[in-house]
Amino acid sequence: MLDSQIDITKSLIETTEELEQLVLGPDGQPLSKKALKKLEKEKEKEKRKQERAAQLAQEKALRDSQEDDFAKNNYGKLPMNQSSEKTSTIWSKVRNIENAEIGSTVHIQARVQASRPTGSKMCFLILREGTSTIQALAVVNKDTISKQMVKFVDSIPSESLVRVTATVVKPDEPVKSCTVSSVELHIETIHIISEALARLPFSLDDATRPDEEYEKDPALVKVNLDTRLDNRVIDLRTITNNAIFKLQSAVCKLFREFLDAQDFIEIHSPKIIGAASEGGANVFKVSYFKRFAYLAQSPQLYKQMCISADFGKVYEIAPVFRAEDSNTHRHLTEYIGLDLEMSFKEHYHEVMFMIGRMFTYIFTELEKRYSHEIEIVQRQHPFEPFKFSEEPLKLEFCQGIALLREAGIEVDDYEDLSTANERLLGKLVKEKYGTDFYMLDKFPLAVRPFYTMPDPHNPNYSNSYDFFIRGEEIMSGAQRVHDAVFLEERVKSCGVDPDTIRDYVDAFKYGCPPHAGGGVGLERVVMLYLNLGNIRRASLFPRDPKRIDP
Ligand code: ATP
Ligand code: MG
Repeated sequence: MLDSQIDITKSLIETTEELEQLVLGPDGQPLSKKALKKLEKEKEKEKRKQERAAQLAQEKALRDSQEDDFAKNNYGKLPMNQSSEKTSTIWSKVRNIENAEIGSTVHIQARVQASRPTGSKMCFLILREGTSTIQALAVVNKDTISKQMVKFVDSIPSESLVRVTATVVKPDEPVKSCTVSSVELHIETIHIISEALARLPFSLDDATRPDEEYEKDPALVKVNLDTRLDNRVIDLRTITNNAIFKLQSAVCKLFREFLDAQDFIEIHSPKIIGAASEGGANVFKVSYFKRFAYLAQSPQLYKQMCISADFGKVYEIAPVFRAEDSNTHRHLTEYIGLDLEMSFKEHYHEVMFMIGRMFTYIFTELEKRYSHEIEIVQRQHPFEPFKFSEEPLKLEFCQGIALLREAGIEVDDYEDLSTANERLLGKLVKEKYGTDFYMLDKFPLAVRPFYTMPDPHNPNYSNSYDFFIRGEEIMSGAQRVHDAVFLEERVKSCGVDPDTIRDYVDAFKYGCPPHAGGGVGLERVVMLYLNLGNIRRASLFPRDPKRIDP
């Protein structure tokens, strides 16, 4: 057999767990690629047939055992929901049961996160809905709950979705392992709405375990980030992830809320663009009919063109694409940009401080409206509470450099901050000013893009700023060059051919108000606010140089 054939055969064999050795045909020769595939398909078909048969047998056994069971109407599997029934049932949210009256009856739909039988007469369940879990138990009694029913409860596969009617009971001790701890549910009826048929890649209990428990017991199963991301739908079901994405949604909602109240217009700029706009190297090139196009690395040029179009104040929440081979804890190749741009009357600080206040608003409202979600994330990933001041702290770049030098770090006056220095500066600022959020103004001109307005008082600096959370950048912004002649000059001196961005440069030829703005990375804000340590945890289905699935 040729080496290449062996490789193909091996790769096929690796996909078939059962075929651990080379499979030989009736003639004693290894099977061809086609024959192997066929064999694999047949095996798969047989496996499905067996699974189906086992399922039918299980259902039959359940029906048989229910025949002479006084509790038979109180449990079982519901027929597939085809929307054939409407009842006036009032469904409770698991989260709200904490406040329900003791002794009252509630109806819920939730997932079975885990089950634990204690003998044949009692079974405990952990039921989960969104960011909440509650303990439920089924105990054998004379009239409503039979041994068969308890057995059924115990046999429900984890992650199946169930419909439960239960009495709210005060437990002897608070149920610490559940988010609803002051009450538990005594099951009256339980029916499966949708059964989990496949084996889970990991248990939701393992995926939700607080970091500190591993320190106490290193033998516990830890689910690593790659396994989580490979099985992201299951991973996203954890109460922690439900809370993270509720908070991500909240950041966008509060961003919109604040800017809408200031008469901003939400825009939608194109993501397919004709030229590699802002310098070039880190854009994705895609084929576009008979030519090439590029994926926008920011809405920068378009939001500025909207200012020239007299929109006054604009923002956009949209994907941003960066073809950077950065395999770090804080870079993605696709992230969500929260961008804004605004014309001002006198000084770019009108815009910079407005953005600063917007962040204060977001942080304040997150604490006020989303304390439950923050607490849920804290259960698994404890972090120091986020500190910020009502009026955000502003430092100048040269002050930052001075702080670093005081700490014994050698830094150049006009070089950009390295990630390590950025973090150290964050620490120094926290120690000195007691805030996790601050604005750094007046960056060196040389480290900013061509559209940045230079500082009129010192040509080495510029009217530009970065904002930081826990010592890492979440936003870059600046006053932009709005003067067409000066822009053309700046574009050229930064080594960009103005003809590649002719429509943008020309947009300023007919007069344009002075303006400033910024671009924020949504996932960065969420990662740093919650101190998650890796941006992938704050991205729904993260894209990085090594991952474009699922
Ligand atoms: P960094 O220096 O951290 O790589 P940057 O200065 O290159 O970021 P900007 O072009 O200033 O990034 O983008 C504005 C904001 O967008 C950043 O402050 C950050 O919040 C976010 N951002 C930039 N690049 C990425 C990325 N690759 N993945 C996720 N977020 C990003
Ligand atoms: Mg930046």
